[in-house]
Amino acid sequence: MHDHGPHDLLVIGSANADLVIGVERRPAPGETVLGSDLSVHPGGKGANQAVAAARLGARAALIARVGDDDHGRLLLRSQRAAGVDTAGVLVGGAPTGVALITVDPSGDNSIVVSPGANARLTPADVRAAEDLLAEARVISVQLEIPLDTVAEVVAVLPPTARLVLNPSPPAPLPPDVLAACDPLVLNEHEARFILGSSAGATPEEWAAGLLAIGPRSVVITLGAQGAFVADTRTGAPVHVPSPRVEAVDTTGAGDAFTAALAWRIGLGEPLATAAAFAVRVGAAAVTGQGAQESFPTAEEVAAL
Ligand code: ADP
Repeated sequence: MHDHGPHDLLVIGSANADLVIGVERRPAPGETVLGSDLSVHPGGKGANQAVAAARLGARAALIARVGDDDHGRLLLRSQRAAGVDTAGVLVGGAPTGVALITVDPSGDNSIVVSPGANARLTPADVRAAEDLLAEARVISVQLEIPLDTVAEVVAVLPPTARLVLNPSPPAPLPPDVLAACDPLVLNEHEARFILGSSAGATPEEWAAGLLAIGPRSVVITLGAQGAFVADTRTGAPVHVPSPRVEAVDTTGAGDAFTAALAWRIGLGEPLATAAAFAVRVGAAAVTGQGAQESFPTAEEVAAL
């Protein structure tokens, strides 16, 4: 465990319990169906990213809020088992966030999210964690916590820290938040949401459109195609291909990718070099079932 700073990566985000039931057919309105035994998994984008980074060997810390309940304890256990510093994980105020997931044999799912304690991670909670923020090289945030909490991270961002933002689930972002991103990390769906009708049809166009609205750099993840990297400081954008793997379950691949990228830029790697590592981490993560359970160690990435 790396309980003492400085940290390579500070993740500020959500922690959810994923409650998963396999069904033959997802229920229609008013219908009841029988499913498999319940399985409960630690999840949420913030918790996933912190575990992914720690599993790779990063000194990672998490700022999040969970409930004073069994799901919260499950999340704290999985963080600590991976070696994440959980001193910034707040407990109480609401039940732990939950994702209720039904998944059918074809892998299609229906999900209801109860944000719970994630919705109670406040700007004041961010300010109270100033020691953690002050020593972070990279701070990674997503949008499963309140937008004003994300805006507070930007407002108190130390000049020495880089902000990595994954706008998921997609929401309109204020200009000062967009301008602080270095990089903005997002998939095609999120890029189209942010760009709206002016999006264009290619990663080149999305990246150019996104750079035009503020971020200093942009990384667009493209599933099996890898990622597209554009940096205002380094000229031409580059496509970083992903290794070819047998995809078993893509849950959490974007979180693993983003965590790996954020960690490596914090170590001083150029963005494209960090992305070349991150696509390998993302690819390794899709070869196993589940989210946190499938995140690779550095050795597993090297062996890919
Ligand atoms: P999200 O899960 O956020 O939609 P992506 O599907 O783009 O994000 O996946 C994130 C990263 O995970 C990709 O950039 C890639 O490195 C890896 N990845 C995802 N799906 C595959 C796949 N089928 N084969 C290889 N790598 C994949």
